[in-house]
Amino acid sequence: MVDDLKENLSEIHAQWVTVRGRIRQKIGDAQFASWIKMLTLEDYEDRKVTLSVPSNFIRTRIIEQYLDIIKSYWLVQNLKINDIQIIVSKTNKRRSLVNKETSNLKEQKPNDVFKSISSDLDNRFSFANFIVGKPNELAFAAARRVAESKDVPFNPLFLYGGVGLGKTHLMHAIAHEIKKRNPLRRVIYMSAEKFMYHFIKALRFKNTVAFKEQFRNVDVLMIDDVQFISGKDSTQEEFFHTFNALIDQNKQLIISADKSPQDLEGIEERMRSRLGWGLVADIHPLTYELRLGILQAKEEKLSSRISSNILEFLAHKITTNVRELEGALNRLSAFSSLVGREINLDMVQDLLKDLLKSSQKKVNIEEIQKKVSQHFNVKMSDMSSARRSRTIARPRQVAMYLSKNLTSRSLPEIGRRFGNRDHTTVIHAVRKVEELRDKDVSFDEDVQLLIRMLES
Ligand code: ADP
Ligand code: MG
Repeated sequence: MVDDLKENLSEIHAQWVTVRGRIRQKIGDAQFASWIKMLTLEDYEDRKVTLSVPSNFIRTRIIEQYLDIIKSYWLVQNLKINDIQIIVSKTNKRRSLVNKETSNLKEQKPNDVFKSISSDLDNRFSFANFIVGKPNELAFAAARRVAESKDVPFNPLFLYGGVGLGKTHLMHAIAHEIKKRNPLRRVIYMSAEKFMYHFIKALRFKNTVAFKEQFRNVDVLMIDDVQFISGKDSTQEEFFHTFNALIDQNKQLIISADKSPQDLEGIEERMRSRLGWGLVADIHPLTYELRLGILQAKEEKLSSRISSNILEFLAHKITTNVRELEGALNRLSAFSSLVGREINLDMVQDLLKDLLKSSQKKVNIEEIQKKVSQHFNVKMSDMSSARRSRTIARPRQVAMYLSKNLTSRSLPEIGRRFGNRDHTTVIHAVRKVEELRDKDVSFDEDVQLLIRMLES
């Protein structure tokens, strides 16, 4: 009996470790350290998990923001869990009965489960607010096409790309547009996690028929971040069936993930291939031009003005994703209205210290020249020589292109560093390389590889 209990607890502990790992992957190290890390596993009894935190504030915040995720991940690990409660414990050890919060799955009636199955849509995530450039133009065009068609142009539409590059934005935009055009069409948008959560609840209440019915009546189903479905067999199975059934009925499916179907891990082969049947559109890392375009568009909507040289500075420095760009802009704008004057560059450096540091890996022209000449097997001195044969000129153009995109050097300055060439030569090189990247896949891969090497 005691042994049973011990084993149980250690299992629960192992599950908790896994759950924490998944959540960390999802929300990132910073959020994880501020919130989830505060949780301590206290107890498991009567199918009820008790976690504790050091303060009420943290508890409230975790319940609001993370309890659903914790539950869904934990249910995936262990269907027996009935309830997760979070208590406040100053030592994180002593159990407190006063601050007990129960979020009881048991009390929910099975039918409530389906009431609000589609998640809320963010009104700001519209097509009008989406700035289009090379890296996202295919995804954008495909999204528009799906939203504007009366029938199903490709099924599924599979959108993929790194974090914060606009996948969720595009999905919401599709939903808004479809509803605007025909309010009667039933659109369900939800995260893969939510799908999982509802499905597992349905399993528990032996209500999977009703669960499936929900989807049968839908016209458009969007599942965001399907990488989180991977690995869990029964959910994957169910997802696959739902997915196939809907496609067979010619209902539009839109899926997003952080990787292409081929690269998704932990996904069954038949699922992987089926996901790639329709149109697969990726969003590439943003170019400087697009970053600047997004900043300019967002700046216009702010109450305080941010000068264009600051926007350019941000577009150079913050290269990771749009979410960080937005965050930086909002912080500057808030500060500017607080102090009632325009922001200057010094203030920016200071205000955004943390953000700038994370994307600081500064590349310089010399490093670029070195890596490029190694890669193409030419002499470093040829980067500035007068030789113009293609085998030399092409790598040189690539190096100029990279200097323009990866450093904040001006065109004339770049020209000078490449054997005193004119800035128009640099412009020509940049255009040429862009053109080649579009036309020639293996050339494009070369350039991508160089970028990755230089930036890491
Ligand atoms: P993802 O789902 O790919 O992680 P999101 O769609 O949540 O990224 O985008 C993160 C933030 O960046 C959102 O606020 C979104 O509005 C904004 N965003 C992303 N791409 C663009 C774009 N091309 N134009 C305008 N805003 C964008
Ligand atoms: Mg998203």
